[in-house]
Amino acid sequence: MASNWIPAKVIENRVLTARHFSLIFDAQLMPFEAGQFARLQVDVPDEDGHMVKAAKPYSLINSPEEKYGEVYFNIVPGGKVSNALAALKPGDSLEIAQPCVGFFVLSQIPDARHIWMLATGTGIGPYLSMLKTAEPWHRFQKIILVHAVSHAEELTYQELIMRFKHDHPSQFGYIPVVSREDYPEALRGRIPALIEDGSLEKKAGLKISKEESHVMICGNSGFLKDTKEVLKKRGMERHLNHKPGQISSEQYF
Ligand SMILES: Cc1cc2nc3c(=O)[nH]c(=O)nc-3n(C[C@H](O)[C@H](O)[C@H](O)COP(=O)(O)OP(=O)(O)OC[C@H]3O[C@@H](n4cnc5c(N)ncnc54)[C@H](O)[C@@H]3O)c2cc1C
Repeated sequence: MASNWIPAKVIENRVLTARHFSLIFDAQLMPFEAGQFARLQVDVPDEDGHMVKAAKPYSLINSPEEKYGEVYFNIVPGGKVSNALAALKPGDSLEIAQPCVGFFVLSQIPDARHIWMLATGTGIGPYLSMLKTAEPWHRFQKIILVHAVSHAEELTYQELIMRFKHDHPSQFGYIPVVSREDYPEALRGRIPALIEDGSLEKKAGLKISKEESHVMICGNSGFLKDTKEVLKKRGMERHLNHKPGQISSEQYF
């Protein structure tokens, strides 16, 4: 489908850590499904210092019903678009490609008793949008959100996550994972290894199994590859429309 650029105005650019931002904007977004992404376009300098337009995809973390759009992003060292996004101030303009697109959405996930939402870094974004909607709470008996980061300060959106926990105490589990420091309540390490040695399931009080689970994975390519390898050892397969499986993923880079 051809995309159409629409204007957006920055409402707020919240600094969550020195590198992580929540960009809230006002735009006439077309209807979208929680989990989809949009390309954001900003002016960036080229090699000669001239300003040119550049665009990159970002997952929407607002629910389709919310008034403002929101994306969660981190500054990539030397990255043109992420640095330009970080510099945006309230009232600044950017452009957004419409419609939002992507298949990392609950309508593409087959029925299962338990849904595992595994993320590294900003890969938690699509899940926040999905969890703000009614669908996952109707469809799955248990929802386990696992957020893996390098340092504890990157365990962002705690207020929202605690609201999910408060509203669905027995249905929802949240497991923070920190790789580079110890942190109370968090597991230490990386998700694939924590699945392999059983610590993630022990913390969740729930098994990951071919029969009962669907696992969503969102983040960088190494994380996706290593997690799929561990799950495949348990007989789990990538989910395709023509060949149902138990693993769905979205790769950011
Ligand atoms: C479907 C999709 C959804 C995405 N959603 C998000 C999102 O919600 N939030 C978000 O922050 N990013 C998201 N990304 C990544 C984003 O589109 C950009 O790639 C990222 O912001 C870097 O763009 P840049 O122009 O600043 O850097 P570039 O110049 O494009 O990147 C420089 C290098 O950094 C690597 N890189 C890209 N992203 C990261 C990262 N996050 N951390 C470390 N290294 C990285 C790239 O492999 C590249 O080699 C998404 C990507 C895809 C494909």
